[in-house]
Amino acid sequence: MKTGLQTMLAHYGEENIHGAVIPPIFLNSTFVHDSYEAFQAGKGYYYSRHSNPTLEVLEKKLSALEGGEAAKVFASGMAAISTVLFNFLQQGDHVICSMPAYGGTFAILGPYMKKFGISVDFIDFRETERVRAAIKPNTKLIVCESYSTFFMEVFDVAAIVSIAKEHGLRTVIDNTCASPANFRPIEWGIDVVIHSASKYLGGHSDVIAGAVISSKAIIESIEQTEYVLFGGALGPFEAWLVTRGLKTFGLRMKQHADSALQIAKMLEENGKVARVNFPFLPSHEQYALAKKQFDEPSGLLSFELHGGRAAAARVINRLKYFKIGVSWGGFESLVYSPGMSGENEQFTGTEYDPRMEHLIRISVGLEDPVDLMEDLQSALESA
Ligand SMILES: *Cc1c(COP(=O)(O)O)cnc(C)c1O
Repeated sequence: MKTGLQTMLAHYGEENIHGAVIPPIFLNSTFVHDSYEAFQAGKGYYYSRHSNPTLEVLEKKLSALEGGEAAKVFASGMAAISTVLFNFLQQGDHVICSMPAYGGTFAILGPYMKKFGISVDFIDFRETERVRAAIKPNTKLIVCESYSTFFMEVFDVAAIVSIAKEHGLRTVIDNTCASPANFRPIEWGIDVVIHSASKYLGGHSDVIAGAVISSKAIIESIEQTEYVLFGGALGPFEAWLVTRGLKTFGLRMKQHADSALQIAKMLEENGKVARVNFPFLPSHEQYALAKKQFDEPSGLLSFELHGGRAAAARVINRLKYFKIGVSWGGFESLVYSPGMSGENEQFTGTEYDPRMEHLIRISVGLEDPVDLMEDLQSALESA
């Protein structure tokens, strides 16, 4: 991708079919062939669980966005994550995963993988040396996230990659939160990038989808095994929706960044707020690292109130434009508190535990920032 991001998204990877400005949706399950010999030659498409032209448009754009060689798209972010884990791991292997991790990643790597004899250590990656210390003879894989989605903590990606390379370990990063508008992990030496395209890539809260971007060799290995065996291919209509969402990706991300920064600054000055978790604030202890690693923030941040759970509940109930719900990355502003979901095994007994109840996470949408700030400021009066 040598053009600008928006130019690439508008033009790259789209076949010209009958001059249609938008490529059609290939809803077919199967593809027919001209002859016995043509089928044998194995060129082109044959079944949509394996490949489909509508998915390929999206795959080309995503691999260009992330600076990878190839990509595969999946029915969800979790389908992408589980497929990658099953591709790399086998019985007896050990994994090091950054903590806190996305709930689904925590659940599959921790409790679930035990039944296959695969073990995991969840480590705070802010202290790089802890990662080195956790490496065992059977360690295979390092799994991490561009930043964590409750506390927005970042870690030194270059340092982790160099430890992984020293020990011959593969690295997988979930880049959903930073998004390729702001951070391209392959340029930093990461082997595999995973996305939930249900968030910023789709951007319109109308589709569940996932993606894996990597080298040709890794994508081919996944395509020939877990992709067809587990059957996690994205549907053609959903692929078309993500491609449609991507047309405005660069523009949306600029607005998310701009609005989130304004809101974070406002929250920091509000007397009811004890802490703003947003490493793009100069007052944040990880500001220098965040500025070094990411071009811009995305629209996800959280803040902690001096009041406890009751104050958080009052604020959340008073908000007008921030709707209560999980997920994030869409056009609409959302609010969520982990306190609403009760006990979370991942956080039990950790430094995060006491912070969960009063934590309010917001996904800053594309509404006018002045309205969002007014909404937050008025709701905070009840904290
Ligand atoms: C949402 C999310 C996922 C899971 O993606 P789905 O598309 O919901 O399956 C994975 N990682 C992160 C960081 C997420 O936010």
